[in-house]
Amino acid sequence: MNKNDADLGALYRETVMDHYRSPRGHKILDRIDIMREGHNPVCGDKVKLSVKMSDEGVEDVAVDCKGCAISVASASMLAELLPGKSKADIERLDEAFREMMHGKPMPDDLDLGDLDALEGVQKFPVRIKCALLAWMTMLEALRDAGNGPEAKNEVTSTEKQGEKAHAGH
Ligand code: ZN
Repeated sequence: MNKNDADLGALYRETVMDHYRSPRGHKILDRIDIMREGHNPVCGDKVKLSVKMSDEGVEDVAVDCKGCAISVASASMLAELLPGKSKADIERLDEAFREMMHGKPMPDDLDLGDLDALEGVQKFPVRIKCALLAWMTMLEALRDAGNGPEAKNEVTSTEKQGEKAHAGH
């Protein structure tokens, strides 16, 4: 295997392809407290999140993602990880995942579930936005949670975020 094949193998790991083929979180919630869409114009990925909140944080999430394998797999992993998590837990997960995308090791005390299968994305900087799309959208949805209905129609775009595509790599 040459280096490019090895990198591609690390990008499309079996766990990633499994989430892509059968994405988790395709469901109808009995109550929706927050809805938010996110777009990644760089790749054309789109995600729609519906969230049912509890007193502690997120009770359940429904996810509809149309896009490349990386964006769909990452959104599916989010759907698997988030139910039952507090807002603080989710912010910590997001931060650890973001740092992993930029080459930092994952903290030992944090269970990132299948997200570690996306580690290979860090070798493809342009795809980092694909991996982070659902997470950026989720964090903005949580931020909106207390801001009234007028905040809920905004769309999260990876273009507005300071997530740079490290062109120098
Ligand atoms: Zn993508």
